[in-house]
Amino acid sequence: MEAPPPPSTNKLQQQEFTLASVTDLTSSSSPSPSSAVATFSCVNEVTELRFQESESAHGFTFDLSSTQLFKLGPLQFICVSENSDSVKQDSFSRGVVIKFSDEKESKFFSDSFEEWTKDAARKGSSLPNGTVSDGNSKFDNKIEAASAKMYFHYYGQLLHQQNMLQDYVRTGTYHAAVMENRSDFAGRVVVDVGAGSGILSMFAALAGAKHVYAVEASEMADYARKLIAGNPLLAERITVIKGKIEDIELPEKADVLISEPMGTLLVNERMLETYVIARDRFLSPNGKMFPTVGRIHMAPFSDEFLFVEMANKALFWQQQNYYGVDLTPLYASAHQGYFSQPVVDAFDPRLLVAPPMFHVIDFTQMKEEQFYEIDVPLKFTASVCGRVHGLACWFDVLFDGSTVQRWFTTAPGAPTTHWYQIRCVLTQPIHVMAGQELTGRLHLVAHSAQSYTINLTLSAKMWGPGANQGGILQSSSCKFDLKEPYYRMSQPQDIQIQSDDLEEIELLQQNANAQL
Ligand code: SAH
Repeated sequence: MEAPPPPSTNKLQQQEFTLASVTDLTSSSSPSPSSAVATFSCVNEVTELRFQESESAHGFTFDLSSTQLFKLGPLQFICVSENSDSVKQDSFSRGVVIKFSDEKESKFFSDSFEEWTKDAARKGSSLPNGTVSDGNSKFDNKIEAASAKMYFHYYGQLLHQQNMLQDYVRTGTYHAAVMENRSDFAGRVVVDVGAGSGILSMFAALAGAKHVYAVEASEMADYARKLIAGNPLLAERITVIKGKIEDIELPEKADVLISEPMGTLLVNERMLETYVIARDRFLSPNGKMFPTVGRIHMAPFSDEFLFVEMANKALFWQQQNYYGVDLTPLYASAHQGYFSQPVVDAFDPRLLVAPPMFHVIDFTQMKEEQFYEIDVPLKFTASVCGRVHGLACWFDVLFDGSTVQRWFTTAPGAPTTHWYQIRCVLTQPIHVMAGQELTGRLHLVAHSAQSYTINLTLSAKMWGPGANQGGILQSSSCKFDLKEPYYRMSQPQDIQIQSDDLEEIELLQQNANAQL
């Protein structure tokens, strides 16, 4: 039989449910679950949910305009609010775990909760002081719904989580960073920001965390619950919360945040913003962040082969007789289109023409808004003579543990990760001599599709006699969309090409040219 539909709250002024138990999460005394009654009610236009323990006068009232309900299991929920009556002395939210004795009642309660909170939101939007609660989260306000939908759909699939788990350089470094800094986790409250499969939560629990809140917005949260439940020794110390960091509430502050929020060029996906929002919302003062600091590394590179490959892609549009049609009007656009794609692959560090420089992003200090626009002045001294085809970038992050400081790097030449490296290729290469100075600017502007527009300028200064006049000899600028990379990793990387292979490749190229 189906659970009865939730009542229309317009008519109903009160609704009661019997609970098997209610446990105050924020109480310092040890929890003593006892049977209780939950009552929804609307008093003076304020919609409330009250929990009253049966055998005591003890009760908590939650204002439903700021209360959230998270399902822990078929019979159990966690109910969290920022604005409950008993919280005033403590400026942070409170939470209770409630348990039902039968599934039907539990389902009926959660349906009713939804109805009553909708009602509370409707009342909130017509407050006499004119405050309009739009119900939008910080995340929804800055990110296009279509982008977020695709993004969380992607992370909701096991194959993509598997891909990250199988990046052993990544996962192994996280594991080492946690295990060798056990003292930072043992007995502590940890929040896993974007928990995915829950792997980092389980590492934290293995290192002795008192409790881990694994927060995950995608459907992966359900898989994480299942995976964690299958590891019972850890499960009792992990609570999975399905929702966005920006929207959810937690019953207590954290001593440690752990997260893997890094995207290509460190900042892609704009999840670092979520990481610092989690810091501001949930981390105790002096709490620790794993990772703590990130650095974007940059260096000019020379790669004639890559440059020709990119230019050749647009050659298709040079055809004047494609089934009788002249394609050349679109050649310039196609050329520009290809060169606006940052190239993602692993390259040989010998392609770098100058020692790299880096830009530091301190996760403990950076404000969320500072991620909206990142401006990096560039200055390099060429160590070889050659043609500079653009800027190569990679990143590293530091786990600043109390016992061991561990770096995780995605540098060229280091063991390859699923981030590889990224290269912004200029349409107009720049000639440099050894010792010549290159200056420029890398300007990143965040966009609502969870990525960045990259503006790159590189200029070669005068060199040798007369250099002190300081003039710019050549300059080249390009714009890239970090959301649309050209994944080039499928190209053979470390394969030694034999001479007969070379002949074969030449033949293939001749054939390809003949087709143009
Ligand atoms: N921590 C996991 C997964 C990392 S991938 C691991 O290391 O293997 C990043 C995860 O963060 C994704 O599963 C994504 O869905 C989640 N995520 C991204 N933005 C989020 C947000 N605003 N709130 C909650 N989860 C988020």
